Amino acid sequence: MKIGIPTETATGETRVAFTPALAASVLRDQHEILVESGAGLRSGVSDAQYSAAGARIIGLAQELYAAADLVFKVQPPTVAEAGLIREGAAYIGFLAPFNNVPVLQAFVRRRITGYAMEFIPRITRAQGMDALSSQATVAGYKAVLIAAERIGKMFPMLMTAAGTVTPATVLILGAGVAGLQAIATAKRLGARVEAFDPRPAVRDQVKSLGALFVEMELPKDAETAGGYAKELSPEFIQKEMEAIGARLPKVDVVISTAQVFGKKAPLLVTKDMVGLMRPGAWFIDLAAEQGGNCELTRAGETVVHNGVAILGAVNLPATVPADASALYARNCFNLFRHLYPKPDAQPDPADEIVKGACLTRGGEVVNETVRKLVSNG
Ligand code: NAD
Repeated sequence: MKIGIPTETATGETRVAFTPALAASVLRDQHEILVESGAGLRSGVSDAQYSAAGARIIGLAQELYAAADLVFKVQPPTVAEAGLIREGAAYIGFLAPFNNVPVLQAFVRRRITGYAMEFIPRITRAQGMDALSSQATVAGYKAVLIAAERIGKMFPMLMTAAGTVTPATVLILGAGVAGLQAIATAKRLGARVEAFDPRPAVRDQVKSLGALFVEMELPKDAETAGGYAKELSPEFIQKEMEAIGARLPKVDVVISTAQVFGKKAPLLVTKDMVGLMRPGAWFIDLAAEQGGNCELTRAGETVVHNGVAILGAVNLPATVPADASALYARNCFNLFRHLYPKPDAQPDPADEIVKGACLTRGGEVVNETVRKLVSNG
């Protein structure tokens, strides 16, 4: 099989979906690796490194797409790119199906088998393929570094001859994968960290990282069978906002990550609540692309209100491209290995991971939720 790695064309995307470290195992199974020239440059991987690992460098994207039996990609293809993928080929990468109906329609027309990395089931045996988690880890880490760099204050407590520097206080809203990594990173930098998440299991995880859990009565049914948060009642969100509001005057940084899969992010901080924060504080909203947890959030922009800056963070993993690519490429590779355990194997459509991640196959949408979307689109 010929595996193609194109250069990412989306604005600001610096990652690449395959790294030379993975090549040996792929080549051992008699597959070929085709890499578009320059695909790895922004993640610090040269054509020469791919060549040395046994990949063939291809000059033009069209040529690469026309030759590949399977494409590994980071960002969903554009409709034009989907039109270049060879008919009947397979695709492994993010597909953001809720925002990309025309791409899915192109996959159906061209009988492309599309595996969406965001649809990998969150089960133990699929952890190595869980790109949402690996990239959220990077985003949570980077959000803290951005805040640390931008607030006019140091994170750790320092006792010096010129007086004592108090530690920064960081409030994390939503302690899933990104939030937990943000807690760990802020703790390492010496901040005082508080966090909140409505899923009861998270309380102990937060405490085990040395952060304070913002206490309030938690809903009994906050979690789906898959471990995700459910959409919560307006009454609960109201109480949560009161609890958050009580903390805001005391914090230097808020990092919000609260999301409900497939839904708009919950609004947790209104414009009036931002008014409770100290001037010079920063609010880093990692849910910006899902509508944001703060009323003032604008994806990709920094809005300043009463001296408080609200950053609508977009694609933070692309700001740490070397490690984000290495982790993401490993996730894609693990899915590939699962689909094709032997050179002549075929994916098992009844397998739970295949069922979860495969959105299109044989000219049809095979995922129930996405089928409705495409037929209405
Ligand atoms: P996510 O990005 O969908 O959401 C981020 C966090 O926001 C979650 O922790 C969620 O509980 C929280 N949230 C939702 N509504 C909120 C609200 N009103 N206020 C505050 N926080 C709110 O989630 P994620 O980080 O991708 O994953 C969430 C969980 O899924 C994990 O912590 C874990 O339990 C589970 N998971 C399991 C596996 C696995 O077993 N393979 C892998 C990854 C994640």
